[in-house]
Amino acid sequence: MSVTAGPGPRVSLWAVWLVSWSALAVAYLWVQDVDLSSALYDGFALSSAAAILLGLYRHRPAKPAPWLLLAAGIALLAAGDVVYTWLDRDGTIGFPSWADASYLAGYAAIAVGIFLIFRRSGGGRGALLDTAVFVVGGGLVLWSLVIAPSLDAVASVEMMGVALAYPAMDLVLLALVLRLLMSSAERPPSVNIIAAALGFFLASDVVYALQSVAGSYTGGILDLGWLLGYALWGAAALHPSVGNPIRQSAVPAVLTRRRLALLAATAAIGPALIAAHETLVIRVDPMPVAVLSGVMFVLIVVRLAGIVHGQQLLLEERSRLQNTLRRQAVEDPLTELPNRRGFLEAVSTAVALDPLGTAVLFIDLDDFKSVNDAHGHATGDAVLRVISRRLRRSLREGDEVGRLGGDEFAVLLRDCPSELAATGFARRTLAAIGGPTVVFGQTVQPTASIGIALGTEGATGTSLVRDADLAMYRAKALGKSRSELFSQGLYEDALRALAIRRDLARVLEEDQLRLFFQPILALETGEIQGFEALLRWFHPTLGLIAPMEFISLAESSGAIVPIGRWVLREACAHAAAWQALSRSPIGVSVNLSPVQLAAPGIVADVRTALDAAGLDPRLLTLELTEVAIDDPEFASERLNTLRGWGVRISIDDFGTGFSSLSRVGGLPVQELKIDRSLIERGDEKMAAAVVQLGQALGLRLIAEGIETPAQLERMREIGCDAVQGFLLGKPVEEASVAGLIRENHERTVSAAAPVTRRAPRRRPLSVALQPPGLRTVGRSD
Ligand code: C2E
Ligand code: CA
Ligand code: CA
Repeated sequence: MSVTAGPGPRVSLWAVWLVSWSALAVAYLWVQDVDLSSALYDGFALSSAAAILLGLYRHRPAKPAPWLLLAAGIALLAAGDVVYTWLDRDGTIGFPSWADASYLAGYAAIAVGIFLIFRRSGGGRGALLDTAVFVVGGGLVLWSLVIAPSLDAVASVEMMGVALAYPAMDLVLLALVLRLLMSSAERPPSVNIIAAALGFFLASDVVYALQSVAGSYTGGILDLGWLLGYALWGAAALHPSVGNPIRQSAVPAVLTRRRLALLAATAAIGPALIAAHETLVIRVDPMPVAVLSGVMFVLIVVRLAGIVHGQQLLLEERSRLQNTLRRQAVEDPLTELPNRRGFLEAVSTAVALDPLGTAVLFIDLDDFKSVNDAHGHATGDAVLRVISRRLRRSLREGDEVGRLGGDEFAVLLRDCPSELAATGFARRTLAAIGGPTVVFGQTVQPTASIGIALGTEGATGTSLVRDADLAMYRAKALGKSRSELFSQGLYEDALRALAIRRDLARVLEEDQLRLFFQPILALETGEIQGFEALLRWFHPTLGLIAPMEFISLAESSGAIVPIGRWVLREACAHAAAWQALSRSPIGVSVNLSPVQLAAPGIVADVRTALDAAGLDPRLLTLELTEVAIDDPEFASERLNTLRGWGVRISIDDFGTGFSSLSRVGGLPVQELKIDRSLIERGDEKMAAAVVQLGQALGLRLIAEGIETPAQLERMREIGCDAVQGFLLGKPVEEASVAGLIRENHERTVSAAAPVTRRAPRRRPLSVALQPPGLRTVGRSD
């Protein structure tokens, strides 16, 4: 609660109370009249009790009981004074009297109240032991200086009991305060104020007791301690934090250097008293001093033993933790195999000892992602555990297996004398990994690709693992489920791939790309119907780079999207220009990577390219591989839009084994390009089947990669519509296209002139094939 003092800051009631009451207490020292003085004194005490009640009323703590006990205790102390004054009105009060009953009851109420308020001090055994030492020390002082001397004066058992009760109460209060101070609890201000009040109170009590023993009680300044105690008690209850709990700290009481010094000093009280006995005129009984000093000694020993024990526990815990951390740093938790770091350490040691006898196998599971996707991660993890067990079992003595992460494992072979030994081990490992694996009732058939690196002079653990990794990539590229040996060439390839990937980012702004064009001819007439646009990269230092080498890198880096946009624009612009050169329309075919088709801007990119060139959309063919239409539903929306404008859709590399016309069925496709490998292999059955299927669907069929007249003849027989290949024309730079078109015109026009029904139809192409035909025109690759 606050009182506003003028325009200044808000002043708290408790502070106002404390300051004004302290001032009044000091003023009280000047009151000379004895009756007035004792009335004022009791007035103070009672107002303190009233302040507590006011504080409780204002702040409404959840548990007011302890504070009510405190107020009652203070009231009882004041009542004791009144009784004392009454009984002593003619100076004949006895001891003990009813006043003592009231005093002791007051002390008891205060002690219980404070016990309850301080209850949650905590601090553990340490705080208790420290408190005990100090209380015993205090007891020793009180015993020697106050209790023992005053016992001489008591005449009866009741007198002795009551006389002992006061110092006992003081010791209890002392114990309560010390316990609070010894603990490391977080105390609200009201609790601290209570502790301060107790401090003043106890100090006055002790001084009073000493003075009583010496028969020199004078009141005055001594009363100030009690009065300030009362003032503080009131302030504690008026403070807004009244009733806030003590927040116990989890940390046990710390034995600070200062506290240790205090404990030592307390332990020295006994010897000091004995010494004082020799030099001063204090009577000290050796027996209680010895007993209480002994008790303190034991308490301190127990306290220190607890600390030593705690320290030991801490050390053990720490070394346990360090061990766990060390293990975790080098071990994979799933398979309990060494992890990448642990494995690298092992390889490094092995290579350092015997570089030529060390080999590393880098093992990567094939298509493990699909296991995870199809069966869930729990199954995936189980498969990894099964495989780790199989790998462990396949090891020879001295070899080691580690899990490098994900679906990557590695084996370290020591004493591996030859390439043959390593490849043999790899073969056995492939066999060990494969084979049906049943986990959670599901059968998976794991296979792996393995890269092998053999130690060389100067190899390190890192270089061996890296080399084996590169070889593993080669094994994947060569068709998976196999092993491949590292060679220096692989390393150079990897470096080249790195350079290519890096330089791809600037290929457009540095204008290093060119489009080449390869003619596509109608099989019956030999007439050029269009050109396929094929990318060429003229790299300033690496020279001409074929698309086979950089397209997949551009796909994985995303560079294919802007590059593909450029290709579309260029191809459309050139195609638009060709139309003036020819009587019949000349189309252009542009390859579209799956990544491009999946990119969000593809439809807009095509539109922009067509519009910028002013090209009839019907002259643009987009060549897609089947991978691009893997998700036909997704592809169909885009393709339908494009088809709606008239753009033609062609399926490239058709017939490679994964082909499925069902996938193509739902899509707006007009054309199939029979894969070059079929023609190369002479797989006519397959080629014929593709042609039949295509014809049934009403598709135009193009055979690409025609290199020999025999192949051309075969394609004619199975009924292809159009052909493309080195035999008919290599890809040429743009500048040569016009010449090709013109030449083709002259040839086909003259050749077509005598066309009648069937037989002559074959002739135009044969004519076109006469040297110097279309075979070596312009710059080619
Ligand atoms: P593709 O679409 O199957 O292109 C045909 C490839 O076969 C071309 O290789 C071409 O030069 C080659 N070729 C043509 N006739 C013959 C022949 O008679 N015998 C042999 N052995 N080869 C022949 P190129 O230009 O190296 O292109 C390779 C692949 O790169 C293309 O395969 C295509 O998938 C991709 N590609 C080329 N240009 C682009 C492009 O602009 N964008 C995208 N996304 N991919 C492209
Ligand atoms: Ca193509
Ligand atoms: Ca192709």
